[in-house]
Amino acid sequence: MSWRDIQCGELRPEHVGRRLTVAGWVDTRRDHGGLVFVDLRDHTGKIQLVLKESDGAHELRNEFVVQAVGEVAARAPDAVNPNLATGEVELQVESLQILSRSTPLPFQVGDDTVEETTRLRYRWLDMRGERMQRNLRMSHAAVSGIRRTMDDLGFIDIWTPAMTRGTPEGARDFLVPVRLQPGKFFALAQSPQLFKQLCMIGGLDRYYQIATCWRDEDLRADRQFEFRQLDLEMAFVEREDVLDVMEAAVVGAFEAVGKSPPRRPFPHISYDEAMSKYGSDKPDLRFAMEIQDATGATRGSEFGVFANAPCVRYLVVPKTFSRAEHERLVALTKEWGAKGLALLSQVAKFLSDSELEAFGVPEGSSALCVADTEEVAAHVLGLLRLHLARELDLVPDTDVFHWVVDFPLFKHDEETGAWTFMHHPFTAPTAGSEVWEPGEPHDVRGQHYDLVWNGWELGSGSIRIHDVEVQERVFTTMGMTDEEAKSKFGFLLDALAMGAPPHGGFAMGIERFVAQLAGEPDIRQIVAFPKVSSGSDPLTGAPTPMPEAVLAESGIRALPQEDLPKA
Ligand code: ASP
Repeated sequence: MSWRDIQCGELRPEHVGRRLTVAGWVDTRRDHGGLVFVDLRDHTGKIQLVLKESDGAHELRNEFVVQAVGEVAARAPDAVNPNLATGEVELQVESLQILSRSTPLPFQVGDDTVEETTRLRYRWLDMRGERMQRNLRMSHAAVSGIRRTMDDLGFIDIWTPAMTRGTPEGARDFLVPVRLQPGKFFALAQSPQLFKQLCMIGGLDRYYQIATCWRDEDLRADRQFEFRQLDLEMAFVEREDVLDVMEAAVVGAFEAVGKSPPRRPFPHISYDEAMSKYGSDKPDLRFAMEIQDATGATRGSEFGVFANAPCVRYLVVPKTFSRAEHERLVALTKEWGAKGLALLSQVAKFLSDSELEAFGVPEGSSALCVADTEEVAAHVLGLLRLHLARELDLVPDTDVFHWVVDFPLFKHDEETGAWTFMHHPFTAPTAGSEVWEPGEPHDVRGQHYDLVWNGWELGSGSIRIHDVEVQERVFTTMGMTDEEAKSKFGFLLDALAMGAPPHGGFAMGIERFVAQLAGEPDIRQIVAFPKVSSGSDPLTGAPTPMPEAVLAESGIRALPQEDLPKA
């Protein structure tokens, strides 16, 4: 016996007159004097069942699982439901069996007003709704499309360890204690970075994996502790070869979900241009509203705030602002670190005609100005640009993919005063700039690139260092002694010293990508069982304390709350 002949959403007029078995969940029940109408649902849709009260229909409640056998009938013309794919037919039930009952529900399936923690606590119910069905199926289709593309391009899927040494991707590691070696820990891989490089050195010249990565970072709309990435690495390649493969993978995923893909090649923008025009290394290029510079024009200004600032930058916004509106923006930008936000029309009386002219503000528009360091001006105006574009509805409904290239290799860590990597310490400097004084890496550019979609950073990659001396120079620049470098990365230095081909790769966050594909505002909607911002899983209740005896087996003891380091 099969549980069903056909899925609920598949019944059509062509089935009229056939005796069929369907099975699914009770979506709704409506009683109409002797007759009971039940919408039976599965992931393909709903079909209307018509039952007599005497068939036991009164027992049915929402989310009961039932099997019904009956004849498919055409609905009377005035009963046709044009909003339902099965709306022209119904099943006249001859026999009905309740396969499973449901307790009263915490919420109705498909109710989009339910608070998210409740949705996650009862994720199995939430999953029955259209939104999660669509997202999880789209995620699968996108990953299949990516895998097909990678396979077609000759990449092989190689499994790399989750439990490893710390991989420096800029986040904290999750640690795994080891019972066999108490007091020692594995780190969960923040990415397969070094393993994929070792594969290249091992002669496997096209590697990929849909790799799970673990990073102990604060959770956000686009971040979970664990996530997947399309991780790839190629030997004997240059930047454009890697970008080309990534673009093919993106297009493969678009096609697999039935969406029209973005045009290739994706445009490039340099890191410097992204920072100066958009104040961000992941600019949203769906709209212009570029940051402009009036530093030169205001150097000799009578208006000291402008004349004495390291730089004067501004946005031209197609709107005039009332005093109250301006004050609200000032408050907002102060939260982002600005000392002030000048409305040009308010300070115009202190400026000369030529200064005003240099701003070039058209009638009906306003200039909002920040006079500060380049970093603060970029940061504040970058955020303000996004805020105003959203508020003034200036973001068109298009998709813009682009590459950000030519990043600096190092950045200065303001807290420690040390130089640290911009991407990760295995990124190669640009050809010709492989030698620098370890204390003077300001001008060294890296062969690092990021992929951005509508302001979301989808992923990063780089051409890697394949020369052991350059790798050692990077470690020294980061303040590591030779001993430290050997103890942490001795295996990599050994491998690089034994015939490493030129190589490079990329990693793209799957959940971020699919969230964008699905038009979702955060990646929790793409993850079957995500965690909430406190870092817990409302469904299983994890993480949980462990009995002391269990911890002791791994050689660890939990500190009391008051002894924990302050966050
Ligand atoms: N390992 C890097 C990351 O996870 C990606 C790469 O450089 O290939 O971001």
